[in-house]
Amino acid sequence: MKPASAGPSPVYAILLGISQDAGVPQIGCDCPACAPARVDPSLRQRAVSVGLIDTEARSSWIIDATPDFREQYDMLRALAPDCSLRGILLTHIHIGHYLGLAQLGKEALNARGMPVLCSARAAAFLRSNGPWSQLLENGNIDLQPWAAEAPLSLSRSLSVTPMLVPHRAEFSDTAAYRAAGPQRTLFYCPDIDRWEGWDRDVRSVCDGSDIALLDATFFSGADLPGRDMSTIPHPLVTDTVARLRGTPAEVALIHLNHTNPLLRDTPERDWLRAQGVAVGAEGQRWGL
Ligand SMILES: [Zn+2]
Ligand SMILES: [Zn+2]
Ligand SMILES: [Zn+2]
Repeated sequence: MKPASAGPSPVYAILLGISQDAGVPQIGCDCPACAPARVDPSLRQRAVSVGLIDTEARSSWIIDATPDFREQYDMLRALAPDCSLRGILLTHIHIGHYLGLAQLGKEALNARGMPVLCSARAAAFLRSNGPWSQLLENGNIDLQPWAAEAPLSLSRSLSVTPMLVPHRAEFSDTAAYRAAGPQRTLFYCPDIDRWEGWDRDVRSVCDGSDIALLDATFFSGADLPGRDMSTIPHPLVTDTVARLRGTPAEVALIHLNHTNPLLRDTPERDWLRAQGVAVGAEGQRWGL
């Protein structure tokens, strides 16, 4: 953590969605979260994504290109009209995190050389599979593979460090990112199998960050009745909260599955509040 300097930072992060890959309502689902959300748009949740804005550099970046990227791009533009999008950082190649790249193609935005920062494996996947390869052939995107653990300098005041985390890896490996502004750091980890499978200690990573946005796909074993939760590769919120009790970091939970009771007004949500942990909210922002 860095000491706060005088004046507000020119850099901030904004949450552009909080749901797991498939959003809420999820296709064809009439569960207690999805059915009301289909009727009341205020209950809808976009797939998780974070915008990073540097007002001094008049630039913005987005982490993850979700299936809701079309709207999230516009949210960023409305928020910071003077800051143009300078790049997209991908965590991994699962539907909630990269399908939005299609919006950069000639049928849509027809972007010119939009930098896409991702792992070498994710870059190789995009390069060798359509329709993504077409984005490269048309010059819509410019793949910029990074090296894990090496800070990427996005602007004079903002850097981002990718860290590899364990997560089912059919098409690519998976990254979490730590974004550092002049004053504060934010850790973003939407998908990970289990905290104990990571070669880092989530507690120390969070303790060393000011804000931590963490995978909260499932609350507990009750989310998926009949499924053996030991086979579900995501940390449970109950476990995450126990590990982080007393951390100085501000923790916000993200990547919630439509079955997660924290999406609704439930006793689980009251319990979470009592632990001093919050569910992230679309539009929530943090100065960095
Ligand atoms: Zn995901
Ligand atoms: Zn549902
Ligand atoms: Zn995933």
